[in-house]
Amino acid sequence: MKIKLTLMALALAIGLTTHAQQQSEKIQTPAQAVEALKAGNTRFTTDNRTLPNQCKDHRKSLKKTQEPFAAIVTCSDSRVPAELLFDNGFGDLFVIRTAGNSVVDSSTQGSVDYAVNHLGVKVIVVLGHTNCGAIKAVVTATDDAAPNSEEEAKMQGELPALIGKIADCIPQHKGKPETFNAAILANVNAQAERIAALPHVKAQVAEGKLAVVNALYDLKTGEVTFQ
Ligand SMILES: [Zn+2]
Repeated sequence: MKIKLTLMALALAIGLTTHAQQQSEKIQTPAQAVEALKAGNTRFTTDNRTLPNQCKDHRKSLKKTQEPFAAIVTCSDSRVPAELLFDNGFGDLFVIRTAGNSVVDSSTQGSVDYAVNHLGVKVIVVLGHTNCGAIKAVVTATDDAAPNSEEEAKMQGELPALIGKIADCIPQHKGKPETFNAAILANVNAQAERIAALPHVKAQVAEGKLAVVNALYDLKTGEVTFQ
C-alpha cells in the first residue's frame, strides 16, 4: 500500500512538472501568450479550472528565478484577481494592479519596464473591468469645490490626484456618467497607448517579441474579452 501511494505521488509530481515545463516551452510568442490566457479564462468560466503551477514543488522550483509569460496591468479591485480568472499559478503572470488599471506614474511604468527588460514577458495585457469605481469617479466628476455626493466626499488624500490623472487620459468622458462603459474601454486604450509609448516596450514590439493588448473583464460573466 505504501509503495503504491509513493508511486502515485511520484507520478503526480512528474505530471505536474511536465505540465509546468510544457507551458513555458510552448509560450514563445505574443500570439501564444494571448492564446494561453484565453484558454485559461475559458477554463475559468466553464468551471474546468486545472489550477496549474500551484503545487508545492512548482513553488519551490521558482525560488531563485521567474519567467512569467505575461504582464497583466489591471485594477486593484478585489473582484479582478488575475491568476484566478486566467487559471494560472505561481510564476505565470507578472501582475501590476492600480486603481483604474492606470499607468500614470513611475512606479507603475517602472514595473512594466521590469517585466519587459528583466523578465522577458511576451505580452502586456491592459485589463479593465465592468463597473470600475475609478472610472465611475472620472465620469461623475464635477468641477464644483463642494462635494455633491457621499462618494465625492470620500475623495480625500491622494485619491483626487490619481483620479485627476486618469481623467486627463480620457478628458472626453470627464463628468459624463452616460458614457461610463465607453469610458472604461477608452481608459484601457489610453493606458495601453501609454505603455506602448515606453521606449523599451516600443523597441520590443517593433521586433515582434512583445505585444500590448487591450482586454475587458466582465464581473458578471467572468469572461475576458480581448479587443
Ligand atoms: Zn476598477
